[in-house]
This record gives sequence, C-alpha cells and structure tokens, in this order.
Amino acid sequence: MKAAEAGMALLAHELYRFYHAGDDETFALRGVSLRVDAGEVVAVVGPSGSGKSTLLNCLAGLDEPDGGFVTVFGERLTRRPEAVRSRMRAASIGVLMQSGNLLEHLTVEQNVAAAQRLTRAGRPTPVSALLARVGLVGRADAWPATLSGGEAARAGLAVALANEPAVLLADEPTGEVDAANERAILGLLGERALAGGAVVVVTHSARVAAAADRTVTMSDGRILDA
Ligand code: ADP
Ligand code: MG
Repeated sequence: MKAAEAGMALLAHELYRFYHAGDDETFALRGVSLRVDAGEVVAVVGPSGSGKSTLLNCLAGLDEPDGGFVTVFGERLTRRPEAVRSRMRAASIGVLMQSGNLLEHLTVEQNVAAAQRLTRAGRPTPVSALLARVGLVGRADAWPATLSGGEAARAGLAVALANEPAVLLADEPTGEVDAANERAILGLLGERALAGGAVVVVTHSARVAAAADRTVTMSDGRILDA
C-alpha cells in the first residue's frame, strides 16, 4: 500500500528523554519526530546507545518521554494514566522486545492466549492459527525456557501479533537468530504491513533494513536527515 493513501497510524512529535544517574546526564532522545502510516514498514537503524530502544519504548507507551507526544490513530498515548495506555496497547499495539516477551510459567500457547485475554476482542484469531503462522504448532506446549533463540523470537512475535495489532513495534527481532529465522520473521513483519499494519522495526540487519519501505537512522538521540 502506498503510504500517502493510508491513514497516519503512529506519530511521534519532538520526543525528548533524559536519564540522570548521579551527576551524569544522558540525552537519550533529543527531539525525535517520526510518522508511520498504515501499511508501512519503517526500519530504525543506528549505533548502540543512539536511542533506538528508548524511542520504541516511548512509541509503545511503556516509557514516558520527558517532552513531546505520541499519538496512535490520532489518540494521544503519552501523559495518560497507565490504565489508558494499557488499554490502547491491548487494542492496537503489538510489542516485541529484545527479551522478556514470554511469561516463563506459561507455555507458548498459553502466552499467546493470555495476550488475547487482555483485549476482549470480539473474534480473536485462533491461537493455533497464530502458532501456525510463526511455525510453532509443534511447540505449542513448550515452556519458554526450552525454546531455541529463533523459536523464542517467533513465539514472542506470536504474542505481539496475538491481537492483529494495527501498530507493530519490534526491537531487534532478528538479533540472535539464524538466517532462516530472520527470513521467517521478516516475512511476518511484511505480512502485518500488507494487512494494513504500521510496522516499526529496530534492526542491525542490512537485510531487514533493505526489506523495509523506509529507513531512518538514529545518532546520539536524533534522527539524521535522509
Ligand atoms: P539503543 O537501543 O540505540 O542501543 P538506548 O535507547 O537503549 O539505545 O539507549 C540510549 C541511551 O540512553 C544510552 O546512552 C543508554 O545508556 C541510555 N539509557 C537507556 N536506558 C537507560 C536507563 N534506564 N537509565 C539510564 N540510562 C539509560
Ligand atoms: Mg536497543
């Protein structure tokens, strides 16, 4: 889908995020603006420490910027109570972090089902269909601790996709997986965009960046001009 034809799914306007530790001050985000349209995959690249994860956490409503705002389909996500952000996340945002995507005391299948229970969506996609999509039908009853790196990444993606989110945010989803898993994950991100999702993927992989519709480069808390 051409970005211009689609609605604006995700908007970050002039985000600032500062961290203080003793006398040290880290300017993690210094005026980051980003717009992602429905049906678009945007790759975020840049050196370690440039603010990519901080940006993604702010886009997900998991972290609160010190300045600026984020809207999802025109609804403000920032500076809202946690209950409101949780509701917005459950309704329209899927998040895949670098780790910690699965609850260790639940099986793969139970993890996906738990994510679906948060939304009370009318007709959720069957868990079995989601597991088939990520190639994990045979691992439905597996405990997270027994998964390989690639399986864990795909299981996390199944959780992120549990509610067919209109906005999908992924932080280095192919960071610790082999080439076959990278292709699989890349395919799933592309499928979400084809289904109308707005996808933001932080990545160090040239292949993932090349497959995106657009790449933005972060450096020292800023997005460099293209
Ligand atoms: P990237 O994902 O691009 O590697 P991050 O967003 O993780 O970068 O970090 C950006 C900067 O903010 C780094 O200098 C990092 O050390 C700092 N930072 C990130 N999270 C915290 C935190 N919770 N407390 C203090 N500093 C942090
Ligand atoms: Mg990071």
